[in-house]
Amino acid sequence: MGFDIRALIDERRGQAAALHEQYLNPQVPRVLHAIGFDREFVRAEGAYYWDPQGDRYLDFLAGFGVYGIGRNHPVVRKALHDVLDAELADMVQFDLPLLPGLVAEQLLARAPGMERVYFCNSGSEAVEAALKFARYATGKRRIVFCNHAYHGLTAGALSVNGAKEFRTGFDPLFPDTAVPFADLAALERELRRGDVAAYLIEPIQGKGVNIAPPGYLRAAKELLHKHGALLICDEVQTGIGRTGRLFAYEHDDVEPDIVTVAKALSGGYVPIGATMAKRSVFDKVFSSMDRVFVHASTFMGNQLAMTAALATLSVVDDEGLLDNAARRGEELMTGLRAIADDHPLIADVRGTGLMIGIEFGRPDTLRGRAMWSTLNTARKGLFAQLVVVPLFTRHRILTQVAGDHMAVVKLLPPLTIGSAEVEEFLTAFADVMSGAERPNGLAWDFGRTLVKQAITR
Ligand code: PMP
Repeated sequence: MGFDIRALIDERRGQAAALHEQYLNPQVPRVLHAIGFDREFVRAEGAYYWDPQGDRYLDFLAGFGVYGIGRNHPVVRKALHDVLDAELADMVQFDLPLLPGLVAEQLLARAPGMERVYFCNSGSEAVEAALKFARYATGKRRIVFCNHAYHGLTAGALSVNGAKEFRTGFDPLFPDTAVPFADLAALERELRRGDVAAYLIEPIQGKGVNIAPPGYLRAAKELLHKHGALLICDEVQTGIGRTGRLFAYEHDDVEPDIVTVAKALSGGYVPIGATMAKRSVFDKVFSSMDRVFVHASTFMGNQLAMTAALATLSVVDDEGLLDNAARRGEELMTGLRAIADDHPLIADVRGTGLMIGIEFGRPDTLRGRAMWSTLNTARKGLFAQLVVVPLFTRHRILTQVAGDHMAVVKLLPPLTIGSAEVEEFLTAFADVMSGAERPNGLAWDFGRTLVKQAITR
């Protein structure tokens, strides 16, 4: 009797793993099973989601930053229902739809120095546009990027990826150049060669949670402009309030030439990317009527994405989420530093707003040193996994390792969390750290299992 999505979901519940194994990337179910993350979730709200047994999980990952305003936000949901019911003429392609104009107006009003926007469908696409715009606007070819950078996995974005595990085997890539993160002298050396179009940087790197020091972006921009090159800030992860300001570059009182956004602008509903830029950049790229669609995409400006973005920006304002991110971030940092004082395995706690990294390092005790070496020989950064796993399986809190081969756990909760969620996390984290340090703690046991699995594969 016709198509019924709810009935279909109910009817096929429990079959996801088999479908993934048969039809999708089969390594995903394998990996999730190996680390005990092969669970099913049936409902979500705000910073929580639930499994079929009714157990509640706390989300400190926010879908890699997508759920800035939390899951299933009622304001965005209503806006989407409303716009669907309005039966607008969407994607006519040869018309001037209102909604992209409205999103651009709202976004630019909140992004100091930015004057134009190009809309697309993902973070990678926003980066692709930024790279093309920078090349065309400057007439130069080379992009300088940072070690450990992550800007997406499409070919242009992969050419500026700072990790070889992503790049290997996919060449030829663009001849772009990596420099150490936030290293002004290294940037200057590259600029002196005269062929650099732009420097692309995440103000806080997603991989490893490395933070550009205060004043760095401003200094980099000065240097870049001296050499006729542009500053591109990739705010796909840091943007839309994650760091306590709408954009992380605002902390540095700098106006980049190009800024990329995606993830949280979607409200967690409809994929969207945006490449904001100075007007001078757009004037070069779209310089004549002949060049009207020199860069474009079919779904750019579609009504569902635009509605989700407008509603999201309104929620960020109405709920005071920038202020909340800053305050909850401070609470987390204070609590984490206190825990770090008691646990020699914690080497560093760093972050801005609600983008926080906890780095682990080799402890001083004899036994601790031996265990650390065993784990790191099996796989660099394995200890971080030993924290993420019990946080999930024992405390039902989802976090992530901040990158392959990195002993860093990243916290990326929704910007809507309150002090209760901060407390819940800190209590669980302190418990996991105590467990990890016990000679036969669960974490080490799990580590041994993983090491064995890695060896037997
Ligand atoms: N840039 C940054 C800084 C990101 O964190 C990501 C995604 N993690 C991307 C770009 C790519 O975005 P997407 O996965 O939406 O293509």
